[in-house]
Amino acid sequence: MAGFLRCLFGLAIFALPLAGCVTDDQLASQATGTWRKIKQEKPVTTDPRYTSRLNRVAPIVLRASGQDPSQWEWAVFEDDSLNAFALPGNKFALFTGILDIMENDAQIATVVGHEVAHVLYRHSAKRTNQNVLASVGVIGATIALGAGCESGDRACQQRSETAAQVAGAAALYGALLPYSRKHELEADVAGLQYMNTAGYDVCEAIAFWNQMTRASAGQPRPAEFASTHPASERRVRTLRAEAERLGKSCR
Ligand SMILES: [Zn+2]
Repeated sequence: MAGFLRCLFGLAIFALPLAGCVTDDQLASQATGTWRKIKQEKPVTTDPRYTSRLNRVAPIVLRASGQDPSQWEWAVFEDDSLNAFALPGNKFALFTGILDIMENDAQIATVVGHEVAHVLYRHSAKRTNQNVLASVGVIGATIALGAGCESGDRACQQRSETAAQVAGAAALYGALLPYSRKHELEADVAGLQYMNTAGYDVCEAIAFWNQMTRASAGQPRPAEFASTHPASERRVRTLRAEAERLGKSCR
């Protein structure tokens, strides 16, 4: 019964069903719907200053990860936030904001490799469970807040509505919801291996994350890449260790 309820919540809230309820094919087809929805909500840039950079790097990293680029779809969204995301069914996107702080192709390869790794390691399927549980928490809090309101107490009711809107936004931007730290570090390490195989300088991954830490300090709202990723020292330490294992010594 509990499993059924969680499955139902997964469908209702995220339009991304739980891994236990559906096959990878179903998850990929749900993700296709999410991808279409985000494209309706957010403008995709056709500015070659962005698209030509990503179109150059993405196929190289994909091939290095053992993938056929023609089986993948990617886009650059017009959005100043320092963000990127991936979806099951071989899709990923970067925002113009994150491309703006990338100094070279190796830094683009850092993020492409990270996002491709999220897909290849099936992190979305694994995280859906946690998100559903978290959102049940949000909804539980909404119901508790609403139920506790005296009739006519507008301030109290508004708080409940705000909580409900937060839950709605989470559903729409489910693609941007955080992965666990374990999955983040796993994607970092795999991404570094892909960029190394592709011939990019892996030390640029460390330079990029340091740059992210500086740039995200001024961001108005949390981005997947800014607030929910592992603390930057831990991430840089992990990347440095992997770079050394690959025979590179970074500053
Ligand atoms: Zn990530």
